[in-house]
Parts: sequence; C-alpha cells; structure tokens
Amino acid sequence: MTQIFFEVVAECPHTRARAGLLHTPHGTIETPVFMPVGTQATVKGLSQRDLADDLGVKILLANTYHLYLRPGHEIIRQMGGLHRFMSWPNALLTDSGGYQVFSLSGMRKITGDGVVFRSHLNGDLHTFTPESTVDVQLAYGSDILMALDECPEYPVSHEYARESMHRTVGWARQADGHYRRRMAESPARHALYPIVQGSMFPDLRRECATALADLGSDGYAIGGLSVGEPRPLSLEMVEATEDILPRSRPRYAMGVGMPAELAEYVARGVDMMDCVLPSRNARNGCLFTSEGRVIIKHARYKDDGRPLDEGCNCYTCTRYSRAYLRHLFVSGEILFAALATRHNIRRYLDIMGEIRHAIISLSFPEYLRCARSASLEAG
Ligand SMILES: [Zn+2]
Repeated sequence: MTQIFFEVVAECPHTRARAGLLHTPHGTIETPVFMPVGTQATVKGLSQRDLADDLGVKILLANTYHLYLRPGHEIIRQMGGLHRFMSWPNALLTDSGGYQVFSLSGMRKITGDGVVFRSHLNGDLHTFTPESTVDVQLAYGSDILMALDECPEYPVSHEYARESMHRTVGWARQADGHYRRRMAESPARHALYPIVQGSMFPDLRRECATALADLGSDGYAIGGLSVGEPRPLSLEMVEATEDILPRSRPRYAMGVGMPAELAEYVARGVDMMDCVLPSRNARNGCLFTSEGRVIIKHARYKDDGRPLDEGCNCYTCTRYSRAYLRHLFVSGEILFAALATRHNIRRYLDIMGEIRHAIISLSFPEYLRCARSASLEAG
C-alpha cells in the first residue's frame, strides 16, 4: 500500500549513497533532502513565501508535540489541516512527539497504553498512545507521519535500551495497524514511518530494524541520534541498520547534522535529514559558508564589505555586506534573524544539491573526499 512513492534514480557504485524522487500529494521531492524545522508550524524568521518561492524548500518538518499542545490538533483540523492553517503549499512531515515527551516534559510515565506526560507549557496531563499520535497527525493532514517511539537519553544500559527498543517496536506495530485501518476507512495519500531505536548498541539497532522491516512500511526513520553521543557513534548506528532496511524505501536520519556530516549520512544510505542547526545557529550569529563558519559578532567583520559567502547567490549574500549583518546582529535587530536564517538554510540546500548532483554524475566518492578534507582543514 505504497501511497507516497519513492523512486531511486541513481546509485553510487562505491558507497551506499543514492539519489531519488519522493512523490507526495504536495509535490515531488528530490532526495537526498534536508528538511528545515518549523517547530511551531513556522521556521523562525522566515515567511512561507521565503521558504517555498525563494529558497525552493519542498518539504518542511513540524512538531507533533508542540502543535498538539498549542493550538491543538482539533483547531488545526477545523482550519482545514496544517497545510492550509500555515499556508504551506509543499510537503509536510511531522515527528512522533516521542522525542519531545521524553526530553521536554518534566514528568512522563510509561503505561501499558503509551505515555502520560505533563505539558511543559502549563503542567496539564496528557496521554500519547501509538494510535492517538497517528490520529493527531492525520488531523494535521501531514504527508509523512511518524510512529510513536521512545527516545532514550544517552548513555543508558544495554538492558534498558533493549526494553525500550522492544517497547518502540510494539508501539510501531500498534501504530501501523491503526494507520492501515484508518487508511482503509478513508483512503488518502499519506505515509507512516516507524522509527529505529536501540540507543548506541548495534545489536539492538539491527534487531529493531529487522522487526520494523517486517511491517512493509513506506519509509523508515532512524531516531535516537544527536542525543549527546560522540559523532562517530551516530554514523555507526546508521551503518548498523542500513543493509536491513529495504533499499526501495526512503531512510530518514532524524535530527542530523552539521554541514560536514550531511555527505557522511548520505554515504551510509540516508535519503532524508532534518536539523534545527541552520536556523538556530543563524539566530545566534553562527553562519555556515562554503569557506567554513563565520561568527558574525567578531570585530574583524565590522568593516568587512564583502558578502557573507561569495559562493552563495541567496538574497542575503547578493544584497548585504558582512559589516551590515554584524551591525544588525550587535544591535539586536529582527532583520538579522531573517537574513541569517535565509542564508543558512540556502547553504544546507546547496550542499544537498551538490551531493545529489555528485551521485547522479557518479562523482560522489570524490565529493566525499573533498568534503572530508575541507572539514579537517576547518577544524
Ligand atoms: Zn547566502
């Protein structure tokens, strides 16, 4: 019952990288793809026109947990779904809510049905079950839904990680069954991805991926990364599961990564990524350029008339100098966040475009070598 169709158009013969097309009811997405994060149904500082028309973003991520607490999924359903509510014409992916329940909520308790938690906004009690989070995401009208998972903190014992992973697999089966029933009642084009967990234990990751692959899902997410572990470990966890997850389905590494890591994940068979870094770092004055990082508050930029990144043709780089951007930042002006976020997201999209082009033109291993040496030089 593949409803969101994924097509592999080119494969690198030397790595696990591939280029593909993900066809959704809200447009076709070229992969590998980076998805900007719109936690509250907005990418902070940018309008939907900036994102869709100017930057060419084809898919955004929004947070199930945050939108469930405020404004609430029933309001969003009444407003015609999330696409209409936020006036977003392209595809939307919503996460499971699991990560936020386990990281933001001061109180949460795992029960037989799911997880009970207190809202971080006002302390109210709520329950997420594998079934209810599917219903919430269907109320949003998300193109791609995530199954409820438990994201354990790092580090945890093997014993706890195993117990938690088994719970995530059980929840994924329940979510999948519920989702298929809902789709049978009212056919619509969505996809539900279960999430591979297992902390930093390759044996648990493999066991989890094997169990989830049996579900025959439309795609698979790899979660529990970027939780404070050393970076090589995150890549190792992706490697552990890559040959188990079906090659015909997209793989989504959740919450990664730094610009230099994007090609590393793609080399390990990842098709989709999301991260708050380009937008969050932009607001803090950390800009990613083709020559490395620029910390804009540094005094050396106060009379620097060059564009932020000479190799970038975004609105920020074609119109403004480093000196002006620094002035906006140190003055606390709102425009800084807008211009900086616009550039950083463009930088990520440009990197993904270069990666895709390298895969299709069979030069990805060379691209990867250059990216590695550039990142070593940048320290
Ligand atoms: Zn730029």
